Amino acid sequence: MTDLKTFTKEPVIAYFSMEIGLSADIPTYSGGLGVLAGDTIKSAADLKVPMVAVTLVCHKGYFAQKISPNGWQEEILRPWNPANFMDLLPTKILVYIENRDVKVQAWLYRVKSPTGGEVPILFLDTDIAGNDERDRRITDELYGGDQEYRLKQEIVLGIGGARMLDALGFEIRKYHMNEGHASLLTLELLNRSRLPLEETWDERASWNTRRVMEQCVFTTHTPVEAGHDRFPYEMVRKIMGEPVPLSLLAELAGKDVLNTTVLAMNLSRYVNGVAKKHGEISKVLFPGFEIHAITNGIHPFTWASPYFVSLFNRYLPSWAKEPELLVRVDTIPDEEIWDAHCGAKAYLFQFIEETTGVRLDPDILTIGFARRAAAYKRGDLILSDIERLVRIGKGKLQFVFGGKAHPQDVPGKELIHRIISHAKVLQGRLKCVYLENYNMEVASRLIPGVDLWLNNPLRPLEASGTSGMKAALNGVPNFSVLDGWWIEGHIEGVTGWSIGPPPTESSVDGNHSDEDIVDLYDKLENIIIPMYYENRHEWIRIMKNAIGKNAYYFNTHVMMRRYVTEAYLR
Ligand SMILES: *Cc1c(COP(=O)(O)O)cnc(C)c1O
Repeated sequence: MTDLKTFTKEPVIAYFSMEIGLSADIPTYSGGLGVLAGDTIKSAADLKVPMVAVTLVCHKGYFAQKISPNGWQEEILRPWNPANFMDLLPTKILVYIENRDVKVQAWLYRVKSPTGGEVPILFLDTDIAGNDERDRRITDELYGGDQEYRLKQEIVLGIGGARMLDALGFEIRKYHMNEGHASLLTLELLNRSRLPLEETWDERASWNTRRVMEQCVFTTHTPVEAGHDRFPYEMVRKIMGEPVPLSLLAELAGKDVLNTTVLAMNLSRYVNGVAKKHGEISKVLFPGFEIHAITNGIHPFTWASPYFVSLFNRYLPSWAKEPELLVRVDTIPDEEIWDAHCGAKAYLFQFIEETTGVRLDPDILTIGFARRAAAYKRGDLILSDIERLVRIGKGKLQFVFGGKAHPQDVPGKELIHRIISHAKVLQGRLKCVYLENYNMEVASRLIPGVDLWLNNPLRPLEASGTSGMKAALNGVPNFSVLDGWWIEGHIEGVTGWSIGPPPTESSVDGNHSDEDIVDLYDKLENIIIPMYYENRHEWIRIMKNAIGKNAYYFNTHVMMRRYVTEAYLR
């Protein structure tokens, strides 16, 4: 029996996210947004923050990646069975889609913390007998299908999610929309009027709008105009009918198209970006809104390699519950930091040998780069000048790459192909592997096992970035363009190194790719490689600073406490 009473006895924060990444065996995430959502929920459980999370079940799973012999990504279906992980709840609710009533059910997953805290997650599902065949597919694919499919998913997530919480007896203290995908929930809240019906729509609407604002918190993640979901009103009318009068909708969500970000901003008392810089960029993109910033984090226990878990346990007990204790990393002897790192490195190299047949040399400085293969992340930047790279790095550098491109992202797939082609050109001079199927499991081996974590996005497109925080936690220094969280975490030569000029851009136009490339090679040649081989003591000092000055702060425990005090309790 699935008893929800323990969860519904007090008002909770409802956290809505299109994707949630908990572990590699629940493939309902594509990248950083989903992993952040999962890490947020885990920290909420650790800290006993009363919370319930809502997402879609995504029956087909985000794809598994194979790389063909000639270097092209192949996508393999990754269907999964929610029944292996969660319980189906008997409650069903209805949402209105294209003149049909669509039944929605929910799977209950429990995130349990060693502290005794627990956060339930509802995975919404429309694959129910009696639903129209088209509607049964709505919760199949993550970011699949066309715009209409996306709108239907957002109806199920936002409106269906709010109704499901209500039907299950949850009392909601705040609705937190993680990105704009869930913002249609505001329309459901607008319709829950408590004012007498004889009031005019206008009076009800303005009273309601204020009431809904009090209930909603919105986090935007996208620093470019094109990244925000937009639906033509014609499509909205066809699929949703008139959830609220269209004139009011146009006022709240944009005159010409329904912009989900604008809708969420208009109806949330508290709005934030995911790093200080991203908060500023968002103010430029959405003038007139008050936009705050809460920098993203990572869940410490999830992302520490087993080697660092046992080291931290010995020297800094309770660090996983209170990651601020990592500030005392200097109490750990240098040799033990180095040994833990060598353990993580050997563990990665064994995995690489098993999966690719390539044997990397554990004594060579190893640079890691893995994240979604989106063009703006410029995965091949370090391969821009192969001859210089070989001059600098022969016998001194090796590379591990990874990352999936979205199935519809052709430039992303070409990027992967280019990296692999370059790797072939480098054969015999510099070792370079591309690890298939970058997911949470691969990430948890890859990131702690390299010596240096590279990140070189086009400024200002990395809203926050989180993989660098995973690296820092494991004593892997960042070598990164000054964008997203690194602007806040970077102290040159102390916590790691920057690439290129200081962050001044508010759009992609002002980028300095040439400067970035030259700076990248110069620092590798003159600072990073010499320090790694000739001054191990200094190198370990930087490893410790990554832990003590980056990881102690850039984690989801600190982030969660900020959401509670700055957003949820306001
Ligand atoms: C952490 C993580 C990401 C996010 O990485 P960024 O560097 O922020 O882009 C993406 N995918 C997986 C599997 C991750 O674990």
